[in-house]
Amino acid sequence: MLRVAVVGSGPSGVYTAQALVQQSLVPDVRVDVLDRLPTPYGLVRYGVAPDHEKIKSLQNNLRTVLEDEHIGFIGNIEVGATGPGPAQLLELYHAVVYCVGAARDRRLGVPGEDLPGSCSATDFVSWYSAHPDAAAEDFALGGARSAVVIGVGNVAVDVTRILARGAAELLPTDVPHAALDALAQSGVREVHMVGRRGPSQAKFTTKELRELGGLPDAAVSVEPSDLGLDPGYADPSGLPAVNRRNVDVVRGWAAGPSAPDAAGERSRRIHLRFFLRPVELLEGDGRVAAVRFERTVPDGSGGVRGTGTYEEIEAQLVLRAVGYRGVPLEGLPFDTARGTVPHEAGRVLRDGVRSPGEYVAGWIKRGPTGVIGTNRPCAKETVTSLLADAAELSTRRLAGEPLEVLRELGHRPVEWPGWEAIEEAEAALGRSLGRRSVKIADWAGLLEAAAGVESAPKEPAA
Ligand code: NAP
Repeated sequence: MLRVAVVGSGPSGVYTAQALVQQSLVPDVRVDVLDRLPTPYGLVRYGVAPDHEKIKSLQNNLRTVLEDEHIGFIGNIEVGATGPGPAQLLELYHAVVYCVGAARDRRLGVPGEDLPGSCSATDFVSWYSAHPDAAAEDFALGGARSAVVIGVGNVAVDVTRILARGAAELLPTDVPHAALDALAQSGVREVHMVGRRGPSQAKFTTKELRELGGLPDAAVSVEPSDLGLDPGYADPSGLPAVNRRNVDVVRGWAAGPSAPDAAGERSRRIHLRFFLRPVELLEGDGRVAAVRFERTVPDGSGGVRGTGTYEEIEAQLVLRAVGYRGVPLEGLPFDTARGTVPHEAGRVLRDGVRSPGEYVAGWIKRGPTGVIGTNRPCAKETVTSLLADAAELSTRRLAGEPLEVLRELGHRPVEWPGWEAIEEAEAALGRSLGRRSVKIADWAGLLEAAAGVESAPKEPAA
């Protein structure tokens, strides 16, 4: 038998587990999918926006995989920190595939970045997604009129859309109740989403961008003087399809009625801005009050250069949506510049040499890019490498039954029935609030719900 641990139960981890059990080269495979959280699905549960129901429903596909008889879910185990490290995992499994994603936000590196009221979009996303590590705050939405979102990728679009929606629009989703209350009290009426390059170079995808124009209570405006700077906007014919379609959408908004007319009776406005790079967050009354941007122009080679002209945009809330970055996992090699684990077709490299039995897939392998589906071919490549090594790996004697060893070490793994109990508790919480299933937003609540069915620790093997 080949025993494999997959660390991380987000899409890349689940697709890796699926590829392992669906192949026929090595018939007897047993996969444990470990997660730091007591809940599976990673960013599908804690990153995909609550109003993106179709993408959220991917959880059903991931569930089917995790319910496979050859796959076990072991939640509440933090590999490399409070839990077993890479060396210990290799005593328990013939192979370990790290699918731990990119857990941190990137920073801007400008003065004022840490002022109260300035946060990473990932913190904001974690908060409205009920991540148990999210701070129980309300982002002072009640006192904010104007928000600036820095970056023009899909995360920027997500947080802009959530800020521009009325709370009533989010009521049918699984947004935690505290976040829903805070969004209901939100005073934010202007949301500025700002890119340092032009619309033809923005990272968002067209479907996501277009959605901003379809919000029931928000109007979108663009600034003509920003658009004229972009050669790709003036002549999109040579652009890749996605950028060309993005330009088409922006053009449509530019040709529409001006912002005040478009806004009409609508409560909120989304201002799409380009060729502005943040240089400082300005303070007022101990909090962020505005963002100072420098006007940029294309440098002729895909980037931009500053012009020495500045513009300030009022903001009581600033969300930095400038990308994720991977974090090192203790005991695994890490390429700090790329924020990934060095690898060759998914095989982990230690000092440039293949480390037997250790693999990576997903964002920790290739960096934080691509949509959920991108993880499928990525996982397949890694699994192909692993299977090619399987004959050699499976001869190694293992130290014991992983779950038993983990319990002996004092861990409290949450298995699949524990997760199902969390799901039931979330459905019950939703019913009690007159809503659909509502996520439990704290560690204690999640573990308490899971403990209802947590299997009793097994007797250590004689
Ligand atoms: P992203 O796509 O890499 O976008 C990051 C944005 O931040 C870019 O506009 C980038 O501009 C800008 N930026 C970076 N550093 C900056 C700086 N110092 N100052 C100003 N702007 C800066 O990252 P993301 O939005 O976090 O998304 C990560 C991945 O998740 C992407 O693959 C995305 O498609 C995916 N995702 C998908 C969905 C969905 O499908 N609905 C939802 C959320 C996330 P430059 O281009 O100039 O560097």
